[in-house]
Amino acid sequence: MMSELDLINWLRKRLGGVNEQILVGLGDDAAVIKWASDRKLVITTDMMLEGTCFLAEHGMRRIGRKALAINLSDLAAMAAEPIAAVVSLALPRSLDLPAVQELYEGMLALAEEFAMAIIGGDTNSWSGPLAINVAAIGRAGPYPVVRRKGAQPGDWLFVTGPLGGSILGKHLDFIPRVREALRLSHIVSLRAMIDISDGLARDLHHLCQESGCGAIIEEEHIPISSAAYALRDGVSPLEHALSDGEDFELLFAVAPEEGKRLLQTQPLQDLDVILYPIGECIPEGIYIRYRDGHLAHLPPLGYTHRFGN
Ligand SMILES: [Mg+2]
Repeated sequence: MMSELDLINWLRKRLGGVNEQILVGLGDDAAVIKWASDRKLVITTDMMLEGTCFLAEHGMRRIGRKALAINLSDLAAMAAEPIAAVVSLALPRSLDLPAVQELYEGMLALAEEFAMAIIGGDTNSWSGPLAINVAAIGRAGPYPVVRRKGAQPGDWLFVTGPLGGSILGKHLDFIPRVREALRLSHIVSLRAMIDISDGLARDLHHLCQESGCGAIIEEEHIPISSAAYALRDGVSPLEHALSDGEDFELLFAVAPEEGKRLLQTQPLQDLDVILYPIGECIPEGIYIRYRDGHLAHLPPLGYTHRFGN
């Protein structure tokens, strides 16, 4: 069994401040962040449970990375820059110190990539499975905060990458689209945005519902990942792209003239990201147009969060 003191001692050494905004990190009763007054603070939290959100066999490093990455994806969806995170763990008593250190190393590698700090949290042991809660704090850009609402009929809809089949690995190893969102927010007016966690169809419904509009997406323009083809489980690659969760790409709406500009300039190519225009917003109804021209209602296929087993 692990001694909690050993963990705390290790954390104190390992969690150094990586940005000058952190005035007090781990080791006091609370952390303190220096805050520029003219930018909004954006906060999000996600809880991951062993058995429903991940399996121990995924490995502690990847699990830790994912716990932070899903929060960064939510900050990205608001076009916010990550500043700090706090981490709370409910640890099974059987877990030893090296395993918990691995979990943190997964988070820290990602935190360092995005120049953010882990500034505290809480750790408890219990007889249940591993539960990880991360809360992340971000800073909104100098522009209006990007919401799910704000898309208008005529707006073009884009996604930041191929979709479907994330279960083959991307759900753990995805790159949260933070840099992409920040750059986009500087060069166009993002009218509405969401990260695709529940699946394209379902998250498109979320965006349209909040915006009070509809959408038509085009089968021929939906980027389907090679993983969606590799699954060969009787579900078509298109259906995987529409309904699989945890791709963590961004879905966003921009005015048509800005959409044309994004398509022509592909401003995220140096980040290895292609922008795919998948359709447009309309006054109401959510549809998919198939390659043969047939138009069909697109139901909110995809992942729904289940409670319990
Ligand atoms: Mg989200």
